[in-house]
Amino acid sequence: MRKEKRQVRVGNIKIGGNSPVVVQSMTKTKTADIKRTVQQIKRLERAGCEVVRLAVRDRTEARALKEIKQKVGVPLVADIHFDYRLALLAIDSGIDKIRINPGNIGGPERIQEVIKKAKDYCIPIRIGINAGSLPEEILKKYSHPTPEAMIETLNRTLEVFYKNSFYDIVISAKCASVVDTLRVYEMIHNLCDFPLHLGITEAGLLLPGAIHSAVGIGILLSQGIGDTIRVSLTADPVKEVIAGFEILSSLNLRTTGPKLVSCPTCGRCEVNLKKIAHRVEQKIKNLKKPLTIAVMGCVVNGPGEAKEADFGIACGKGIGAIFAKGREIKRVKESKLVEELWEVIDENTGD
Ligand code: SF4
Repeated sequence: MRKEKRQVRVGNIKIGGNSPVVVQSMTKTKTADIKRTVQQIKRLERAGCEVVRLAVRDRTEARALKEIKQKVGVPLVADIHFDYRLALLAIDSGIDKIRINPGNIGGPERIQEVIKKAKDYCIPIRIGINAGSLPEEILKKYSHPTPEAMIETLNRTLEVFYKNSFYDIVISAKCASVVDTLRVYEMIHNLCDFPLHLGITEAGLLLPGAIHSAVGIGILLSQGIGDTIRVSLTADPVKEVIAGFEILSSLNLRTTGPKLVSCPTCGRCEVNLKKIAHRVEQKIKNLKKPLTIAVMGCVVNGPGEAKEADFGIACGKGIGAIFAKGREIKRVKESKLVEELWEVIDENTGD
C-alpha cells in the first residue's frame, strides 16, 4: 500500500499524491547540441518517457534549454551540479524542474537563491543526493557514504528549504549499492512526506543494470515507497524507459500496451521459439491495449498459459495451436504462426 505523499507538478505531469508512478530518463547528448538533444528527447517521448532530465554544465547549455523546450512536449528537468547560477539561468529558460545536488551546490545562501527563483516560477526542486558526491564535512564525519551520512545531508538541506517555506520538493538518495539504496529510501520514507524519485545510480550495462534496478526499485515500490523512477543504464536511454515500464508492469502499477509471456524453451521445444517470440514482440509493440500474449514452446505449459492469456500460441513439432480468449482457434504450420496469430488478434481487437 502506497503511503500518500505530497504532490508536485512537473509541467503537466504530477508526481506523488495518488498519481501513478512516473517513468523518467535522462539525455546522453551534450545539451548544447540542440539538434541531437531534441532528437533524443523525441525518441524518449515516443517510448513513453514522461519526464526528461538534461545535464546543464555551463551557461550555453542553460540557455539552450529555451530552444529545446520549444521543440519538445515532455516536461524537462535541468540537472545542476557545482554552480547554482546555472539553476537560475535554467529557470529563466523555462525549465519545468530543477535538480540540485547538496554535495556540490554550495552553502545555504546559494540553495536559497535557487529556492527563491523556483518559488517565483512555481516549479519544484529535486534534492538529489548521491552517495558518490556527499559534502566533504559529512564524508569526514562518517568516513564512508553510508545511508546515515546521506540522511544527515538530507536533513541539513531540508532545513534550508523549511526556513524558506518551500515544500515543492522531490527527494532522491541514490547509491550504486542496492542494499544501501533500500536502507536509505526506507529511512527517508519514514522521515518525511515528500515524493521520492527512485533509482540505482551507476547501475551498469544493460543486463546487470536492468537487474540491479529492478531488484532495488522493485523492492521499494512493492513496499509502497517511490513516486517516480529512473532506471540508469550504460545504454540507449530508450532502454531505460522500457525497463522502467517493465518494472512497473511486473508489479501491476502501470500497464502500457501488451505483455508478452514467452517460455525460456528447453529440450522439449521443437520449433524456433526465440524467432517466433521476437517476431510477435515486433508485431505487437505498437498495440495500445493491455493484452497478454503467450508464446509457448510445447504442450507441458503451452496450452495452459495460452488459454490464460488473451491470445497465445502453444507449439508442437513444427506446428502450433493458436488460442484466443481461452479457446483453441486453429492449428497452423510453424512458418505461418506469427501471421495467423496476428490475424486472430486483429479480428478480435480491431487493432
Ligand atoms: Fe520447455 Fe515446454 Fe516449458 Fe517451453 S513450455 S520451457 S518448451 S517445457
